Amino acid sequence: MTANYEALQAIPRREEPYHIVVTAAHHDDIEFGVAGSVARWIREEGATATYVIITDGGAGSNDPDMARGQLVDLRYSEQMEAAARVGVHDVRFLGYPDGCLEASLALRRDITRIIRETKPYRVVCQDPSTVFAHRAYVNHPDHRAAGEASVYAVFPSAETRPIFPELLTEGFEPHKVGELYLNLTQEPTHYHDISSTIDLKMAALSAHVSQIGAGDDFENGAKKWLMQANRDGGSLVGVEYAEHFRVLKFDEERESWFKEETERRERETAAK
Ligand SMILES: [Zn+2]
Repeated sequence: MTANYEALQAIPRREEPYHIVVTAAHHDDIEFGVAGSVARWIREEGATATYVIITDGGAGSNDPDMARGQLVDLRYSEQMEAAARVGVHDVRFLGYPDGCLEASLALRRDITRIIRETKPYRVVCQDPSTVFAHRAYVNHPDHRAAGEASVYAVFPSAETRPIFPELLTEGFEPHKVGELYLNLTQEPTHYHDISSTIDLKMAALSAHVSQIGAGDDFENGAKKWLMQANRDGGSLVGVEYAEHFRVLKFDEERESWFKEETERRERETAAK
Protein backbone atom coordinates (compact mmCIF):
# COMPACT_ATOMS: atom_id res chain seq x y z
CA MET A 1 0.00 0.00 0.00
CA THR A 2 1.42 3.41 -0.91
CA ALA A 3 1.37 6.35 1.47
CA ASN A 4 -1.44 8.00 -0.47
CA TYR A 5 -3.83 5.21 0.37
CA GLU A 6 -3.23 4.87 4.09
CA ALA A 7 -5.95 7.36 4.97
CA LEU A 8 -8.65 5.58 3.01
CA GLN A 9 -11.70 4.08 4.62
CA ALA A 10 -14.88 2.31 3.68
CA ILE A 11 -18.01 4.35 3.05
CA PRO A 12 -20.36 4.20 6.05
CA ARG A 13 -23.82 2.78 5.51
CA ARG A 14 -26.70 5.26 5.63
CA GLU A 15 -29.76 3.94 7.45
CA GLU A 16 -32.63 6.15 6.32
CA PRO A 17 -33.77 6.19 2.66
CA TYR A 18 -32.42 9.06 0.60
CA HIS A 19 -32.15 10.40 -2.94
CA ILE A 20 -29.02 10.64 -5.08
CA VAL A 21 -28.35 12.79 -8.14
CA VAL A 22 -25.55 11.53 -10.37
CA THR A 23 -24.30 13.89 -13.06
CA ALA A 24 -21.97 13.00 -15.93
CA ALA A 25 -20.82 14.57 -19.17
CA HIS A 26 -21.46 11.53 -21.34
CA HIS A 27 -23.62 8.46 -21.77
CA ASP A 28 -21.56 5.57 -20.28
CA ASP A 29 -19.52 7.74 -17.85
CA ILE A 30 -21.74 6.62 -14.96
CA GLU A 31 -21.48 2.96 -15.90
CA PHE A 32 -17.69 3.12 -16.14
CA GLY A 33 -17.29 5.15 -12.97
CA VAL A 34 -19.93 4.73 -10.31
CA ALA A 35 -22.74 2.32 -11.30
CA GLY A 36 -21.53 -0.35 -8.85
CA SER A 37 -21.91 2.07 -5.95
CA VAL A 38 -25.27 3.36 -7.18
CA ALA A 39 -26.54 -0.21 -7.44
CA ARG A 40 -25.47 -0.90 -3.84
CA TRP A 41 -27.03 2.27 -2.50
CA ILE A 42 -30.31 1.39 -4.21
CA ARG A 43 -30.36 -2.33 -3.34
CA GLU A 44 -28.93 -2.25 0.16
CA GLU A 45 -29.91 1.16 1.50
CA GLY A 46 -33.20 1.79 -0.29
CA ALA A 47 -31.91 4.90 -2.05
CA THR A 48 -33.49 6.34 -5.19
CA ALA A 49 -31.49 8.03 -7.93
CA THR A 50 -31.72 10.50 -10.78
CA TYR A 51 -29.12 10.41 -13.56
CA VAL A 52 -28.26 13.64 -15.37
CA ILE A 53 -26.54 13.12 -18.72
CA ILE A 54 -25.28 16.52 -19.75
CA THR A 55 -24.21 16.18 -23.40
CA ASP A 56 -26.13 14.64 -26.27
CA GLY A 57 -23.51 11.93 -26.90
CA GLY A 58 -23.31 12.94 -30.55
CA ALA A 59 -19.49 12.89 -30.66
CA GLY A 60 -19.25 9.24 -29.61
CA SER A 61 -18.33 7.93 -33.06
CA ASN A 62 -15.66 8.63 -35.66
CA ASP A 63 -17.55 6.57 -38.25
CA PRO A 64 -18.23 8.95 -41.19
CA ASP A 65 -21.36 6.94 -42.02
CA MET A 66 -22.89 7.46 -38.57
CA ALA A 67 -25.23 10.48 -38.65
CA ARG A 68 -25.06 12.59 -35.48
CA GLY A 69 -28.82 12.52 -34.90
CA GLN A 70 -28.95 8.76 -35.34
CA LEU A 71 -26.18 8.33 -32.76
CA VAL A 72 -27.93 10.66 -30.29
CA ASP A 73 -31.11 8.53 -30.48
CA LEU A 74 -29.18 5.30 -30.12
CA ARG A 75 -27.22 6.51 -27.11
CA TYR A 76 -30.42 7.72 -25.44
CA SER A 77 -31.84 4.19 -25.66
CA GLU A 78 -28.59 2.63 -24.45
CA GLN A 79 -28.42 4.97 -21.46
CA MET A 80 -32.04 4.30 -20.45
CA GLU A 81 -31.38 0.56 -20.57
CA ALA A 82 -28.09 0.88 -18.63
CA ALA A 83 -29.82 2.92 -15.91
CA ALA A 84 -32.77 0.51 -15.66
CA ARG A 85 -30.38 -2.41 -15.09
CA VAL A 86 -29.29 -0.93 -11.74
CA GLY A 87 -32.78 0.29 -10.84
CA VAL A 88 -32.63 3.91 -12.05
CA HIS A 89 -35.65 5.04 -14.06
CA ASP A 90 -35.33 8.83 -13.79
CA VAL A 91 -32.76 9.93 -16.37
CA ARG A 92 -32.52 13.56 -17.50
CA PHE A 93 -30.80 14.42 -20.79
CA LEU A 94 -29.68 18.03 -20.96
CA GLY A 95 -28.62 17.82 -24.61
CA TYR A 96 -25.54 20.06 -24.62
CA PRO A 97 -23.30 19.43 -27.66
CA ASP A 98 -20.90 16.56 -26.95
CA GLY A 99 -17.21 17.46 -27.08
CA CYS A 100 -17.55 21.21 -26.58
CA LEU A 101 -19.00 21.47 -23.06
CA GLU A 102 -18.36 24.57 -20.96
CA ALA A 103 -19.09 25.09 -17.26
CA SER A 104 -21.53 27.85 -18.17
CA LEU A 105 -24.03 29.56 -15.89
CA ALA A 106 -26.80 28.06 -18.04
CA LEU A 107 -25.51 24.55 -17.29
CA ARG A 108 -25.08 25.31 -13.60
CA ARG A 109 -28.66 26.58 -13.50
CA ASP A 110 -29.96 23.44 -15.25
CA ILE A 111 -28.25 21.22 -12.67
CA THR A 112 -29.35 23.47 -9.81
CA ARG A 113 -32.95 23.15 -11.01
CA ILE A 114 -32.77 19.34 -10.88
CA ILE A 115 -31.17 19.40 -7.41
CA ARG A 116 -33.87 21.72 -6.09
CA GLU A 117 -36.58 19.60 -7.70
CA THR A 118 -35.40 16.13 -6.61
CA LYS A 119 -33.77 17.15 -3.27
CA PRO A 120 -30.85 14.70 -3.11
CA TYR A 121 -28.96 13.97 0.08
CA ARG A 122 -25.97 12.91 -2.03
CA VAL A 123 -24.69 14.29 -5.33
CA VAL A 124 -22.14 12.32 -7.35
CA CYS A 125 -20.18 14.09 -10.08
CA GLN A 126 -16.86 14.14 -11.89
CA ASP A 127 -13.88 15.78 -10.14
CA PRO A 128 -13.25 19.03 -12.05
CA SER A 129 -9.70 19.26 -10.73
CA THR A 130 -8.50 16.22 -12.68
CA VAL A 131 -6.51 17.45 -15.69
CA PHE A 132 -4.29 14.39 -16.20
CA ALA A 133 -4.79 10.79 -15.11
CA HIS A 134 -2.48 7.81 -14.68
CA ARG A 135 0.43 9.47 -16.53
CA ALA A 136 -1.13 8.47 -19.84
CA TYR A 137 -4.48 10.25 -20.13
CA VAL A 138 -5.68 13.78 -20.60
CA ASN A 139 -9.01 14.01 -18.82
CA HIS A 140 -11.78 14.92 -21.27
CA PRO A 141 -12.62 18.64 -20.97
CA ASP A 142 -16.34 17.74 -20.96
CA HIS A 143 -15.77 15.78 -17.73
CA ARG A 144 -14.11 18.78 -16.10
CA ALA A 145 -16.84 21.17 -17.26
CA ALA A 146 -19.59 18.81 -16.09
CA GLY A 147 -17.87 18.47 -12.73
CA GLU A 148 -17.31 22.18 -12.26
CA ALA A 149 -20.91 23.08 -13.05
CA SER A 150 -22.15 20.30 -10.75
CA VAL A 151 -19.93 21.25 -7.81
CA TYR A 152 -21.04 24.87 -7.98
CA ALA A 153 -24.67 23.82 -8.44
CA VAL A 154 -24.35 21.89 -5.14
CA PHE A 155 -22.67 24.84 -3.50
CA PRO A 156 -23.61 27.62 -3.46
CA SER A 157 -26.39 27.62 -6.08
CA ALA A 158 -28.82 24.96 -4.86
CA GLU A 159 -28.99 26.20 -1.26
CA THR A 160 -28.77 29.96 -1.78
CA ARG A 161 -32.07 31.72 -2.38
CA PRO A 162 -30.86 34.82 -4.24
CA ILE A 163 -28.88 32.78 -6.82
CA PHE A 164 -30.93 32.08 -9.96
CA PRO A 165 -34.12 33.89 -8.82
CA GLU A 166 -35.82 32.60 -11.97
CA LEU A 167 -35.82 29.14 -10.36
CA LEU A 168 -37.90 30.52 -7.49
CA THR A 169 -40.35 31.84 -10.07
CA GLU A 170 -40.51 28.31 -11.51
CA GLY A 171 -41.33 27.01 -8.02
CA PHE A 172 -37.96 25.52 -7.05
CA GLU A 173 -37.06 26.39 -3.47
CA PRO A 174 -33.46 26.15 -2.14
CA HIS A 175 -32.18 22.73 -1.11
CA LYS A 176 -29.07 21.88 0.92
CA VAL A 177 -27.16 18.81 -0.26
CA GLY A 178 -25.65 16.59 2.47
CA GLU A 179 -22.74 14.96 0.65
CA LEU A 180 -20.73 15.40 -2.53
CA TYR A 181 -18.96 12.40 -4.06
CA LEU A 182 -16.38 13.12 -6.76
CA ASN A 183 -15.38 10.36 -9.14
CA LEU A 184 -12.59 10.41 -11.74
CA THR A 185 -10.53 11.86 -8.91
CA GLN A 186 -6.80 11.86 -8.30
CA GLU A 187 -7.33 12.42 -4.58
CA PRO A 188 -9.60 9.61 -3.35
CA THR A 189 -10.64 9.66 0.29
CA HIS A 190 -12.97 6.65 0.17
CA TYR A 191 -13.01 3.26 -1.54
CA HIS A 192 -16.45 1.66 -1.80
CA ASP A 193 -16.75 -2.13 -1.88
CA ILE A 194 -18.77 -3.07 -4.98
CA SER A 195 -18.08 -6.82 -4.90
CA SER A 196 -21.82 -7.51 -4.44
CA THR A 197 -22.80 -5.41 -7.48
CA ILE A 198 -19.89 -5.82 -9.92
CA ASP A 199 -22.03 -8.12 -12.09
CA LEU A 200 -24.85 -5.55 -12.20
CA LYS A 201 -22.33 -2.86 -13.07
CA MET A 202 -21.03 -4.91 -16.00
CA ALA A 203 -24.59 -5.64 -17.13
CA ALA A 204 -25.29 -1.91 -17.13
CA LEU A 205 -22.07 -1.12 -18.99
CA SER A 206 -22.85 -3.73 -21.63
CA ALA A 207 -25.91 -1.71 -22.70
CA HIS A 208 -23.62 0.84 -24.39
CA VAL A 209 -23.08 -1.32 -27.46
CA SER A 210 -22.36 1.65 -29.75
CA GLN A 211 -19.37 2.54 -27.58
CA ILE A 212 -17.90 -0.73 -26.37
CA GLY A 213 -19.20 -3.35 -28.79
CA ALA A 214 -20.76 -6.66 -27.83
CA GLY A 215 -19.79 -10.30 -27.37
CA ASP A 216 -16.04 -10.95 -27.38
CA ASP A 217 -15.31 -7.29 -28.16
CA PHE A 218 -16.97 -6.32 -24.87
CA GLU A 219 -15.73 -9.29 -22.81
CA ASN A 220 -12.09 -8.86 -23.84
CA GLY A 221 -12.20 -5.08 -24.08
CA ALA A 222 -14.10 -2.69 -21.81
CA LYS A 223 -15.30 -5.35 -19.39
CA LYS A 224 -11.89 -6.91 -18.86
CA TRP A 225 -10.22 -3.53 -18.44
CA LEU A 226 -12.82 -2.18 -16.00
CA MET A 227 -12.96 -5.39 -13.91
CA GLN A 228 -9.20 -5.14 -13.51
CA ALA A 229 -9.35 -1.45 -12.59
CA ASN A 230 -11.98 -2.14 -9.92
CA ARG A 231 -9.99 -5.17 -8.71
CA ASP A 232 -6.93 -2.94 -8.36
CA GLY A 233 -9.02 -0.50 -6.34
CA GLY A 234 -10.36 -3.28 -4.15
CA SER A 235 -6.90 -4.65 -3.44
CA LEU A 236 -5.95 -1.35 -1.82
CA VAL A 237 -8.58 -1.80 0.88
CA GLY A 238 -8.81 -5.57 1.13
CA VAL A 239 -12.00 -6.24 -0.86
CA GLU A 240 -12.52 -7.89 -4.23
CA TYR A 241 -13.79 -4.89 -6.23
CA ALA A 242 -14.04 -1.19 -5.35
CA GLU A 243 -14.87 2.22 -6.80
CA HIS A 244 -13.20 5.27 -5.34
CA PHE A 245 -14.34 8.80 -4.54
CA ARG A 246 -13.25 12.04 -3.00
CA VAL A 247 -16.01 12.69 -0.45
CA LEU A 248 -17.12 16.02 1.01
CA LYS A 249 -19.72 16.17 3.79
CA PHE A 250 -21.90 19.23 4.41
CA ASP A 251 -24.55 17.75 6.69
CA GLU A 252 -25.18 17.81 10.43
CA GLU A 253 -22.72 14.94 10.96
CA ARG A 254 -19.90 16.94 9.39
CA GLU A 255 -18.30 18.06 12.66
CA SER A 256 -18.06 14.60 14.22
CA TRP A 257 -17.03 13.05 10.90
CA PHE A 258 -14.28 15.62 10.42
CA LYS A 259 -13.07 15.08 13.99
CA GLU A 260 -12.90 11.32 13.47
CA GLU A 261 -11.05 11.76 10.16
CA THR A 262 -8.51 14.07 11.76
CA GLU A 263 -7.94 11.73 14.71
CA ARG A 264 -7.55 8.76 12.41
CA ARG A 265 -4.98 10.55 10.27
CA GLU A 266 -3.07 11.59 13.38
CA ARG A 267 -3.03 7.99 14.61
CA GLU A 268 -1.75 6.82 11.23
CA THR A 269 0.95 9.46 11.16
CA ALA A 270 2.02 8.58 14.71
CA ALA A 271 2.19 4.88 13.80
CA LYS A 272 4.71 5.49 11.00
ZN1 LIG B 1 -16.94 10.62 -20.79
